[in-house]
Amino acid sequence: MVDPTVLEEQAKLIERTKELSCLYEIAKIIAPSSRSFSEVLQAIVSILPSAFHYPERVGAGIQIDDLVFMTDGFSPSTRRISATLTIEGRPKGVIEVFYRQSEDGEDEDGEEHFLPEETNLLQTIARQVSLMIEIKLANEKQAKLESQLRHADRLAKMGQLTAGVAHELNEPLSGILGFAQLALKKIDSPEQSARYLDRIVQSCLHAREIIKKMMLFSSPAPQHMARADLNQLLADGMAFIVPRFEKSGIRFDSVLDPDLPAIVADPAQITQVLVNLVINAIHAMPNGGVLTVKTVAAEGKTRMIVQDTGVGMDAQTMEQIFLPFFSTKDVDHGTGLGLSVVHGIITAHHATIEVQSQVGRGAVFTITFPAAGEDGGGKGGDD
Ligand code: ADP
Repeated sequence: MVDPTVLEEQAKLIERTKELSCLYEIAKIIAPSSRSFSEVLQAIVSILPSAFHYPERVGAGIQIDDLVFMTDGFSPSTRRISATLTIEGRPKGVIEVFYRQSEDGEDEDGEEHFLPEETNLLQTIARQVSLMIEIKLANEKQAKLESQLRHADRLAKMGQLTAGVAHELNEPLSGILGFAQLALKKIDSPEQSARYLDRIVQSCLHAREIIKKMMLFSSPAPQHMARADLNQLLADGMAFIVPRFEKSGIRFDSVLDPDLPAIVADPAQITQVLVNLVINAIHAMPNGGVLTVKTVAAEGKTRMIVQDTGVGMDAQTMEQIFLPFFSTKDVDHGTGLGLSVVHGIITAHHATIEVQSQVGRGAVFTITFPAAGEDGGGKGGDD
């Protein structure tokens, strides 16, 4: 004969195990997953009855604002317990468990009633669900803030861009207007007005140059893609630029890897990249220094490095150098378009550009081209 107190303890233990299993299942459901919010709440509702004494006769429901989730066969019942879902200190909904009524609307017979432990369990579950909702709301708030920040950032960049365009175009436009007015006044002096007209043409060419550069950084679709020998392109480009170094006290070093894989590129645009990087390097070394142009084969990719021993940049400058019109130079020395053009060309070639620099210790620009034949670089050889 088994001792009845042992049986009772055993029954209690079984109940506690059911409750713990239910809590464990809920924790698993709540854990981050690809389930939607509604799916999570529906899953919690479905698992709830398993923690109670007569699971087959128990129904459950969760209501949050105007959202309602419930097990099949939900019906109002007098034998029910509920717990409030409190979000950020305010009641936001309710979680409810009940014993189903019989067909005729009467409570089913039997000794079903909720135990104090079951009421506590429901409170615990309500706290877990409330916490989950709070985390979800916090995440949503954060995502919204991040999106607002991104928007503000975009607006700021657009403002910067517009101000830059206005500033750059204002100069040639003022020239055109001024010289046109002067030419009008001197209409009876053909020689004089021819000089003014010539200045107008120069200003128009200047404006066209600015617009050309802007188009290049916005979407410089490479025009003449072909398999190219980067070493040859750089050697040709440098032969054109090096004479400019002669008086500037800058030494030119070139370290070209003889085993460089071919790239697919628009030669004119690569020369433009080299020229822009080298001109910046020259500007960065007003008292002379060393400019190194290197190529390196790296895991099938082709790397081009332009390095100087000039003034260098701080981290804040480095963050902005690829933005159109960002410049630390005088109006006469920089338009702030050089590196944004470089960035546009590099992106159109499916290549990447990185910069490393420290104030007073020069700068290193590293461009990595995909191997010819790899995705990127265009169709190759269509030229
Ligand atoms: P710009 O040369 O007309 O100013 P860029 O877009 O070419 O425009 O360069 C933007 C800025 O990046 C420069 O004003 C300068 O502050 C910085 N920069 C670019 N290259 C270098 C370099 N080699 N060393 C130091 N600073 C550089």
